[in-house]
Amino acid sequence: MPPDDPTNPKPTEPVPAGVVPVVSIENLHVHYGAIHAVRGISIEIPPGEVYGFIGPNGAGKSTTIKVLSTLIGHFTGTAKINGIDVARRPQEVREQIGYMPDFFGVYEDLNVREYLHFFAAAYRIPRKQRKTVIDDVLELTDLTHKIGDQVDSLSRGMKQRLALARVLLHDPQLLLLDEPASGLDPRARIEVRELLKALTEMGKTILISSHILHELAHLCTRIGIIETGEMVAQGSLQDIYRQLQLMRIVHVQLTESDDGVVDQVRKIKGVADVEQQVDRLAIQLREDHAAVEELHEALVKLGVKIHMFQPEAMDMETAFMKLTEGKTA
Ligand code: ATP
Repeated sequence: MPPDDPTNPKPTEPVPAGVVPVVSIENLHVHYGAIHAVRGISIEIPPGEVYGFIGPNGAGKSTTIKVLSTLIGHFTGTAKINGIDVARRPQEVREQIGYMPDFFGVYEDLNVREYLHFFAAAYRIPRKQRKTVIDDVLELTDLTHKIGDQVDSLSRGMKQRLALARVLLHDPQLLLLDEPASGLDPRARIEVRELLKALTEMGKTILISSHILHELAHLCTRIGIIETGEMVAQGSLQDIYRQLQLMRIVHVQLTESDDGVVDQVRKIKGVADVEQQVDRLAIQLREDHAAVEELHEALVKLGVKIHMFQPEAMDMETAFMKLTEGKTA
C-alpha cells in the first residue's frame, strides 16, 4: 500500500507520550536562491533510535542535517534538538550533537593525536581530561595504533573512523552522520557499521544518511526516504518495506536442488516464492519477514551445499520505481 499522502507523509510511529524527541523537525523548508531544496519535511526521532535518512544525490539530506547542526540559519518551520530550538539557542544545541559532514577536509602536518587534541580543545574539554578522552575514543574506533600517524596518510575508512572519534569527544547524545559509509570498500563499510552498532548499544541517538537503502536497512529502527526535498515514505523498516512491497531476489546455486529441496526452501521464513531456473534458484525474499543473512542460515541448516549465494542489490532506483508506481496507481 502506498502511504496516504506520498508527497509528505507524517512519521508513522509517534513518539511515546511524555518522551521528548531528540530530533523534532516540523514543516522544514530551505531555499538556496531559486532552489527549493527542502520542501516541508517533518521528522521525529525518539531517544536511542537510529534514523536512516535515505535519498539520491541532491535530495536535501545534507541540507536538513546542516539545519540540525546549526550551520544553516535561512529556513522556515521548526527544528529542535531535545526540545531546544536550533535557530534560537544554537550554542546549547551544539553541545548535544556530534556532526560528521560528508567530506573529511585536509589536515596537512597533523597527526592523529594532534588532530584530536585540536578538536578536544575546540569542544572545551578540560585540559586534564583530554588524554583520557582521546584514548577512549581511539580505542572505541580501533585507531589506538594510529595515534602517531599523519591524518592525511590514513585510508578513507580510517579517516571515517577518525571523523567518528572526533564527534564522540564531547560525548554528545545525538550523532548526525552525513553519508559515513560512502566511498568505502566493503570491509571498511562493515567496520563502520559495527562501530555504529556499538554506539547504539551505548544509547546514542543517531541520524545517518545514505543514498543506498540496503546499506542502512538493518541498522536503522526508522527510515525516511527523501526525494527532491520531499519525504516520500517514513516509518520503521517493516513499514517501508510494506509500503513499497519490496521483495528481494536472491540467486542461489545448490549442489542438489531436486523438488524435495525446493519444497523445503519454499517453507523457509520470509520466502515468498522460488523459481527454478536452468542453473539456479531465484528465491523471492520478503525482507520484512526475514533478513538475507537469515535465509543463508536457514539454507545451511537444511544441510544443502551452497555453491553460490547472490542477493540482488536493492537500490534506490527500485525503491523509487515502487514509490512512483504507488503514486500513479
Ligand atoms: P548529496 O548526497 O549529493 O550530498 P543531498 O541529498 O545531501 O545530496 P543537498 O546537498 O542537501 O542534497 O542538496 C539539495 C539541493 O540543494 C540540491 O539541488 C543542491 O544542488 C542544492 N544545494 C545544496 N547546497 C547548496 C548551496 N550551498 N548553494 C546552492 N544550492 C545548494
